Amino acid sequence: MAGRVAGKVALITGGSSGIGQAAAMLFGREGAKVMVADYNAEGGERTAKAIREAGGVAAFHAADVSLPHDVEALIAKVVETYGRIDCAFNNAGIEGQMANTAECTIENWNRVIAIDLTSVFLCMKYELAQMVKTGGGSIVNTASVAGLLGLASAPAYVAAKHGVAGLTKTAALEFAQKGIRVNAVCPGFIRTPMVERVLDRGVFSEEQIFAAEPMHRMGKPEEIAESVLWLCSDASSFVTGLPMPVDGGYAAQ
Ligand code: NAP
Repeated sequence: MAGRVAGKVALITGGSSGIGQAAAMLFGREGAKVMVADYNAEGGERTAKAIREAGGVAAFHAADVSLPHDVEALIAKVVETYGRIDCAFNNAGIEGQMANTAECTIENWNRVIAIDLTSVFLCMKYELAQMVKTGGGSIVNTASVAGLLGLASAPAYVAAKHGVAGLTKTAALEFAQKGIRVNAVCPGFIRTPMVERVLDRGVFSEEQIFAAEPMHRMGKPEEIAESVLWLCSDASSFVTGLPMPVDGGYAAQ
């Protein structure tokens, strides 16, 4: 199949929903062999089936990316299925509770750090070791504008996403001479089930989000997927260590 990532093997975590699902569909359309990973098996199988029905190549593997054993088994499964990994989009994440730093529970702190930060470390640990064996690859981690700026009432999320930006830069330096590029995407407010949950809980209103975004709208998952595809493709061959805002100008304020 022709396309911007034709013939490449791509692992996408959080591929059941939202940004991960849009990225999986785009990579499938652009010729990659896709491994969709998520702990939501029903949604993940649905994404993989939709890629195959559209003429692409895709499989699903269930994994909780905060667990070392699950991540090690996931990377082994990609290699067993497709023989290598060329692109990895480490994207699964949660928003956690909305509560200020004085009110953030230790349970929320530990859960958000495990799922939003430790997962990215674990995925990169095994992906990098595998990519070195085949001479290179491209990794994109999902940070957030909350990895570049503070966000009141989300201390664990902000700390995790700043951590993702730092891990991204560090791995980029470590592997720059081994043919592996490591970047992060930093979305602004994107209309996904995650943001719908935040709206349902009354944390922010849609009007507040529109007012905070310079373009006065939310982004679409497909707009993040396009930036991830570019960062994974050979078109961005001299780009590494970049936490890239895709945010309609939010972080420029
Ligand atoms: P989403 O629609 O909720 O998708 C996240 C996916 O990750 C879900 O399928 C979820 O499964 C899965 N997941 C959660 N924890 C997991 C775990 N431990 N192991 C495996 N899979 C897990 O949210 P989204 O908006 O697309 O978010 C994707 C990423 O973008 C996250 O890292 C998020 O922090 C980041 N982000 C989002 C926005 C935004 O405005 N939407 C902005 C900045 C950054 P379940 O559905 O079963 O929970």
